[in-house]
Amino acid sequence: MKITFLGTSHGVPSAVRYSSSLMIEVDGSVYLVDGGAPVADLLTRRGVPFTSVRAVFATHMHSDHTGGFPLFFSLSNWYYKDTDYDIFLPDTVDVDAMRALLCAMDGGMDNEARLRFHPVREGVLYSDDRLTVTAYRTRHMMDDRTSYAYRLEAAGGPTLCVTGDLHHGDAADFPDAFRYEPSDAVVCEMAHFSWETALGVLAPCPTRQVFFTHIGPGNADWIEGKIPPLPPLPFSLHVPDDGDSFEI
Ligand SMILES: [Zn+2]
Repeated sequence: MKITFLGTSHGVPSAVRYSSSLMIEVDGSVYLVDGGAPVADLLTRRGVPFTSVRAVFATHMHSDHTGGFPLFFSLSNWYYKDTDYDIFLPDTVDVDAMRALLCAMDGGMDNEARLRFHPVREGVLYSDDRLTVTAYRTRHMMDDRTSYAYRLEAAGGPTLCVTGDLHHGDAADFPDAFRYEPSDAVVCEMAHFSWETALGVLAPCPTRQVFFTHIGPGNADWIEGKIPPLPPLPFSLHVPDDGDSFEI
């Protein structure tokens, strides 16, 4: 499994960071978690064919996680007619809204069997011959709308946990399945609590690598490399830049 950080900024893009988007590659198949970055442009510039995308997952509907999706879906709708993928948005109302936006932009849906929209449900959400994705509800949204973290498990291979955005002010929202079940890597957002809080929660996690992303002003010290001395951690810790890739 290879992961590429297409966007690593918090809710506002910076001069060098797009908002959140993560690309996961497993044996030539591509999966996206969030699309706050201009994913259509970035996949094109990286030479990633749209036809390699098999599924797209939004952690929640905030624009820094979904703003780049409409163009990607639209191009898949009216131009790249050999695309064939599933799209998971948090709720039925979000699916209806995105389909309505596509109809407004493109005059209709070309083929609803190719762009398959689904609302997210907790538990095992998606499975193909290369990847199984499990969804865990989180408490990031301040109203009755939904948000999710995802655990992605390659067939016979590594497991990746992606927090999405969590509850403001503390890291108590971190899913138990991430804290206590072994994984190979955790991608943890850093826009809603301090790095001290995050490390306090993550230190006991049975994982090999942790990636801090969703970088904002509150954790600028990390960006500038002014990381204070840390106690020994049981995993390697990374703060990726846009475009960085890692083998899991
Ligand atoms: Zn966010």
